[in-house]
Amino acid sequence: MPTLEELGWTAELDHYFTQLGHPDWAPGRIARVDRERFGVWTASGEIPAELSGKIRDTSADHVCVGDWVALTLHNGLGIMHARLPRKTSISRKAAGEQTAEQALAANIDAVLLVCGLDADFNLRRIERALTLVMNSGASPIIVLNKADQCDNLPAKITLTEQVAPHMPVCAVSATTGLGLEELRTHLKAQQTFVLLGSSGVGKSTLTNSLLEQTRMQTGALRSSVEKGHHTTTHRQMWLLPNGALCIDTPGLRELGLWGSDEGLDVVFPEIEALARTCRFHDCSHEVEPGCAIQAALQDGALSSERYESWLKLRREYAFVEQRQSEHKRRQADKELGRMYKRAKEDARRRKPGFR
Ligand code: GDP
Ligand code: ZN
Repeated sequence: MPTLEELGWTAELDHYFTQLGHPDWAPGRIARVDRERFGVWTASGEIPAELSGKIRDTSADHVCVGDWVALTLHNGLGIMHARLPRKTSISRKAAGEQTAEQALAANIDAVLLVCGLDADFNLRRIERALTLVMNSGASPIIVLNKADQCDNLPAKITLTEQVAPHMPVCAVSATTGLGLEELRTHLKAQQTFVLLGSSGVGKSTLTNSLLEQTRMQTGALRSSVEKGHHTTTHRQMWLLPNGALCIDTPGLRELGLWGSDEGLDVVFPEIEALARTCRFHDCSHEVEPGCAIQAALQDGALSSERYESWLKLRREYAFVEQRQSEHKRRQADKELGRMYKRAKEDARRRKPGFR
């Protein structure tokens, strides 16, 4: 049975937990989410758990796989009372028209950004996904899968390294095992990673290869949760033989951009460096005179693909940010409305003659 430390428990988390001031609560990490059913890893093994009414009411986006929670045990069922602060999280726009954030995985150290080296290979898509990873706070590792199907591997690795400055790039084959040893050296014990990438790039195959027999080994840990119902688990955390933790979340497949455009600086450092030397402080880098970016495009120092990709992402982030602030304003209005109603209700109650 893994210890809490082996599951990623830190002194910082311990501090937060102590501050909750409930000696009767125990810490645990959510390893499995299947609609409203949860499997939580605790110091004494995995237990099935539910959210307390309080936690459900107080946060719209309550918990997700990878979260640390505080819980109590009642006849073998855990009740989760609080969520500990997240170090990082991977979010997407909640489904539908709402511009609300939905966390898909929490406390992630590394993101394996999986791309196919076949027809799926697309630098623009890598850039886009990287900006999202940079927003999450986790560090990216770029995994070029299906290396067995690629005839110009060195060239594709070089192209990838150009759009992913200072980030590890690993070419692997999930089916033949090529490059997996090197990839494993990036996955450290007690660190949590997720796989991210479009459908068909080989995430499931790669997860299976990385886990080896882990799925069978962890069987003992999960029997209590799965007993008695057919499980269609959607999100799950696994402990790898080398001690790293892998979160498997098919929900990460279609990615809506979320968050701020801060990630753009990291993913397009050459463009951000140019932008600082434009004549106008508020240059849009599209039409102004003295634009260093336009000049670099003219003399070929900057590729137009990189520029177009950056411009497109910048517009998208601006749009998302605007929608986010509108959403926040609407939420604030709603909260104000509720406060007003409560105040009126209180005043009515205080009136003489109220029963
Ligand atoms: P996912 O949608 O990202 O989970 O992708 P899958 O793991 O389901 O893989 C999609 C297809 O690609 C399957 O037919 C796999 O067998 C195949 N595949 C995955 N990895 C590799 C690889 O390294 N080389 C080759 N040739 N095929 C692969
Ligand atoms: Zn400019």
